[in-house]
Amino acid sequence: MKKIGIYIHAPFCRSKCPYCDFYSERADSRDHDEYTLSVVSAMERYSSELRREADTLYLGGGTPSLLGGKNVALIITAAKRLFNVDGEITVECNPSCIEDGFFDMIAEAGANRASIGLQSAVDSERRQLGRLSDARRVAEVIEASRSAGIDNISLDVMLGIPKQTPESLAETLEFCAQASIPHVSAYMLSLEEGTYFYKNADRLDLPDEDMTARLYEQCGDFLCGKGYVNYEISNFALPGFESRHNLKYWSCDEYLGIGPAAHSFIDGKRFYYPRDRRYFMDGGEPVSDGEGGSRGEYVMLRLRLAEGLVFADYEKRYGEKFPSGAVDAASSLAADGLMKVTDRAISLTRRGFLLSNPVIARIEENFIM
Ligand code: SF4
Repeated sequence: MKKIGIYIHAPFCRSKCPYCDFYSERADSRDHDEYTLSVVSAMERYSSELRREADTLYLGGGTPSLLGGKNVALIITAAKRLFNVDGEITVECNPSCIEDGFFDMIAEAGANRASIGLQSAVDSERRQLGRLSDARRVAEVIEASRSAGIDNISLDVMLGIPKQTPESLAETLEFCAQASIPHVSAYMLSLEEGTYFYKNADRLDLPDEDMTARLYEQCGDFLCGKGYVNYEISNFALPGFESRHNLKYWSCDEYLGIGPAAHSFIDGKRFYYPRDRRYFMDGGEPVSDGEGGSRGEYVMLRLRLAEGLVFADYEKRYGEKFPSGAVDAASSLAADGLMKVTDRAISLTRRGFLLSNPVIARIEENFIM
């Protein structure tokens, strides 16, 4: 049986960033310890229920590093014992919430990848985003991760943030290149309902749509010029450093999500835990989110990847010929430089990534949902 990915949600943050709607709360170290034990209990239950092995583990949040090295190590050790995790083990780290010795503890337990929240290397932009540390601190954290032997590092960068200009983005990208970071996730700011940014959008001095598109292109040009591959719409990696865990999401592979707000896709079913830490800690059951893995979902997710829709993979998965209408539609989009068609696959070009929603919708129309 194919191995699954495991996602653990750490629902804690020291403070709330004004653009973020991920589920997280403030709590103290006793809550962190108690929550860690709930995660281990849930993993024990799933391990005997599913009897599956995993080849990726991802601790995201919220702020997993806020749990502390001891708790993160406990979770990693339990996941290895219960699911025989033998591959990529990523821990998201917020530079303002890393205790001394953190990386040594998690590396010793088996963590081999760190995803660090940079967002911007320009301190005035960092302050606007509610980041509590400066860029120098991010550099120290990168160094600490490497000293512990974790050199597979990803930095998060944000595009389209208040007052961002091509010059300020250049500073951020230069920071990533100078630090020889093998993976960069570059997401455009999206105004999520309920956040401070959403409520105050007219006062934020946000770059307009054209400028945001220009920043996205600048990011791709810079990173691809340095040897990174734009392997997913918003993700860039030096060859061999793609996120194996996130590739499972974009390939419609199976994953188990543990913790409030964590989603799962197992045996064709999608389910999730409500955004309620107490509910999860009291042993509440996840809620069904219906069937998953439809053709439409697969097409939409795979076209986010530079590899695109591989005919043979589609035919193996759904037991039917790849629709010729989709190849025709891709060929007509290729004439506008938005897609590529080969005898193996159809895929979006970097220009197509920028217009991904309408381009993917044109291809999706050709599949029976
Ligand atoms: S961006 Fe990260 S650190 Fe900030 S509130 Fe959201 S999860 Fe927490």
